[in-house]
Amino acid sequence: MFIAENLAAVKARIEVALRRAGRPAGSVTLVAVSKTFPPAAVREAYAAGQRHFGENRVQEFDAKRKELELPDTGESKARYSLEGAVWHLIGHLQTNKAARASRIFQVIHTVDSARLARRLNEVRAGHPDRLPVLIEVKLSEEPAKTGVEESQVEKLAEEIRRLERLELRGLMTMPPWSEDPERSRPYFRRLREIGQRLGTPELSMGMTNDFEAAIEEGATIVRVGTAIFGKRKPVAIE
Ligand SMILES: *Cc1c(COP(=O)(O)O)cnc(C)c1O
Repeated sequence: MFIAENLAAVKARIEVALRRAGRPAGSVTLVAVSKTFPPAAVREAYAAGQRHFGENRVQEFDAKRKELELPDTGESKARYSLEGAVWHLIGHLQTNKAARASRIFQVIHTVDSARLARRLNEVRAGHPDRLPVLIEVKLSEEPAKTGVEESQVEKLAEEIRRLERLELRGLMTMPPWSEDPERSRPYFRRLREIGQRLGTPELSMGMTNDFEAAIEEGATIVRVGTAIFGKRKPVAIE
């Protein structure tokens, strides 16, 4: 049961960081990043009370959901295990996988183009609720990082707000990886400033290494994998 213990420890650290920042208890959503981990790990976290989960690839999650027997969004299934679990897509989304993603994820953190936003809106037709989305902002200079450039965020936000089946909830970012959480802080601060300008409520920022700094800078969603599930095995990139 190390997952339950890890979860409790992470939650305690979140609350300490919130207190330090003078923010209300419980004002951060913990997304447990289960990518690369088997369904059994998800079940264990769920049994320990965890409800928000993050995955970064549509195909990997699709395989996992089969084993977890999760229904598609809008599909009626009287009862299923993992009821009430909320699935967040935190990895880059290709337009050609938008339709599938919109049926298996309840929140998309990685909208980075008007084209993708329009596609998500299109495939949402017939669904009663708007799909909550965040804009992924590329604040780091690293060429490999995905996300929209800061100069383009406002324009993309306007486009998303014109789409009737999406709900722009906020922003997400991933600073360059560093051992030292203090190096992430300027990126978190920057994201908060952009969010304030846009008037969006959610800031998805902070991972195992830097979630406390992110909370001090205003994160409302932290995405934590390693500290909950353990070290990931290296995986091949598609
Ligand atoms: C893998 C991943 C995480 C979790 O990273 P950890 O360092 O294991 O906590 C968070 N966000 C994104 C976008 C990821 O891909």
